[in-house]
This record gives sequence, C-alpha cells and structure tokens, in this order.
Amino acid sequence: MSTQLNEALIELLAKKERGTATITENNKTQLVAFSPIRITMGSKQFGFGGKQESIDHIKGNKGEAWHVVIYHLEDDAIESAHEVTSIIILFGIIFTLLTAAAALIFGKLAAKPIVGLATTARNIGEGDLDSRTNVHSNDEIGDLAKSLNKMAKNLQDTMASRNELIFEVEQRKKAEEKLQILSTTDALTGADNRRAFNDKLHTNIGRAKRHNEPLSLLLLDIDHFKKVNDSYGHDVGDMVLKTFVRAVTECIRQEDIIARWGGEEFTILLPQTGKDAALQQAERLREQISLYDFPTVGHMTASIGHTELQDQDTPDSLVKRADNALYQAKEGGRNIVKSC
Ligand code: GH3
Ligand code: MG
Ligand code: MG
Repeated sequence: MSTQLNEALIELLAKKERGTATITENNKTQLVAFSPIRITMGSKQFGFGGKQESIDHIKGNKGEAWHVVIYHLEDDAIESAHEVTSIIILFGIIFTLLTAAAALIFGKLAAKPIVGLATTARNIGEGDLDSRTNVHSNDEIGDLAKSLNKMAKNLQDTMASRNELIFEVEQRKKAEEKLQILSTTDALTGADNRRAFNDKLHTNIGRAKRHNEPLSLLLLDIDHFKKVNDSYGHDVGDMVLKTFVRAVTECIRQEDIIARWGGEEFTILLPQTGKDAALQQAERLREQISLYDFPTVGHMTASIGHTELQDQDTPDSLVKRADNALYQAKEGGRNIVKSC
C-alpha cells in the first residue's frame, strides 16, 4: 500500500465517496477500489476528528475523511485473469472430453442389444436359419429377441418340411421316370419294347398320312441264332443280342426307331423314308451286321424284310407285310433283304 496518495486518486476521492478507477503511477496502470470508512454506534454515524462535545465529532473535520484504498497492478490482474481463464478452459475441455467418452460408452452399451438383434435378423434374411440372438434382457428388446429366435426356429422347421417334401417329390418323379423307362424299354438290349414300338408306330403312321410323307418298316431276324445258344450257352446268346442292337444303332439315324419285337427279331421304323432309300439302308444294315465281329461267336448274319406304308394300311397290316418280306428273305437263303 502506498503511503503517499497519488494526486489523481486524491482528486478522485474528492469527487466520489466510493468507486473504482484506473490510475497511472510510475508508468504503471493500477486498478484502484476505494470506499470511505465510517464509525457507527447504534444508529449514529461519527466522522473523524473534532471533540466529543463539538459538532465535529459527528461531521468530522471538514474536508477530511478516512478511506480504504486497494491497489492492484493492472498487469498482475490481467495475468491472474488469464491464469483463471486458462484453468477454466482446461477444465472445460476435460469435462467435455469426459462427457463425450461417457456418452460414447453408454451409447454403445445401450445400442449393443439392438445391434445384436439387427445382426441376427440380417443373418436370417440371408438364409442362415441357425442364427440366434443371445439378448436376454427383461424389457421390450428382450421380448423382441425371443420373438426373433422363435420366428427363426419356425422358419427352420417350415424349411425342413418343405425340403423333405421337395425331396419326396423328386424321388417320386425319378421313380416315375424309371418306371416309364422300364415299361417302355427292353431290359436286355435297352431298345424300345414291343409296347413302346406299337405306340410309336401308331403315331408315325398318323403323322405320315397327315403330311403325306413316306414311312418304311424293316423287320430283322438273326440267322441261326438258336445255334448260338446251343453252342455257347444262353448268356453268350444274350450278349449277342445286346451287341446286335449296338451294331444296328451305330448304323441308323437319330430319328429312326429300333425295337425288340421278340426273341431275336427286331423292328426298325424309318420316318420320312420311301422304298428306295429304305432298301439302301436295309442293305447297309445287313452288311454292317455280317461284317461285325461279335464277341465269342465271331460273325453273324440277319435276314431283313422291308415294306413301305400304303394309304389303306393299319399298324397290323404294315407289320404283316414286313413279316412276309422277312419270310421271303429266309426262304431266299438268309442274309438278304426282301421287300413286299
Ligand atoms: P432262323 O435262321 O430261321 O431265324 O433260325 P433261328 O435259330 O434264329 O430261329 P429260331 O426261331 O428257331 O430260334 C430263335 C431262338 O432264339 C430260340 C430262343 O431260344 C432264342 N431266344 C429267344 N429269346 C432269347 C433271349 O432273350 N436270349 C437268348 N439267349 N436266346 C433267346
Ligand atoms: Mg426268329
Ligand atoms: Mg432267327
């Protein structure tokens, strides 16, 4: 505290009883606060100076007064203000960071079950029906989790029954196809059986007549087949029959139909084929068979009867004519083609 009052301050004290101000002393700015000091006794206020009996002790000496004056250097005040501000800012930043971290942690904790539910729902949606959520809280989210797991289980059960049904349908379809093949195919040679051939013969006769197209039928009978059985046994006979069908199939078109008519007799239906082309084909077949090397037995021959569809023909009349032609081929010495 200065013992010598600054002139500017004295001037100020003369003007105002109390207040604050900035004054400059020795090129330094000071913050100043001042207030008068009074002596109070009960409700009475006393000034300074004068005697007890005089009016002076109430008013004090005229022009004199006691004041409390506080000085503080402005630079010091600004520095402390800066320090306080820095501390406040630091605490503010720490508080904000802590609040943000707490919000992040609590937010994550609160969102965890929902994220779990969303993940499970997405997995189920993508077809992973084994996916289950492990949220077990006793609130609405827990209820939702139970419902989701139940839904996945029901969906899984439904899918399992659906798959079983699809499997069963596929098995039946395969069984039906197998049955269809068995009922239309000759088990030994794999050629069409007589029943399937009759169906196809009927269809082809109808189509040929409708479109006015030629249709030829060949009837083939292996020559002296009985000797094969007698000489080599029935199994070798069977093998010759299978080989015979393979040899013939190699020689005919995709659209031609070969069937086992019975025993060692076979029919070949040649759609859109007239007599000349059919006889050429029959000759090729005859040659192919006669040149073919049958396992165990070596060379075999076959006799072939041919006929072409006539306007008045039925399936029976067509087959009958082919049979007559075959008979003529046998009569003619075998390993030949005859047409009726
Ligand atoms: P041809 O030249 O006059 O036709 O004489 P072939 O011996 O061929 O005629 P035949 O009709 O007398 O003999 C046919 C034989 O075919 C009689 C039968 O035992 C045999 N056969 C019929 N079906 C089968 C079969 O599935 N397997 C075997 N191994 N033999 C069969
Ligand atoms: Mg025969
Ligand atoms: Mg025969």
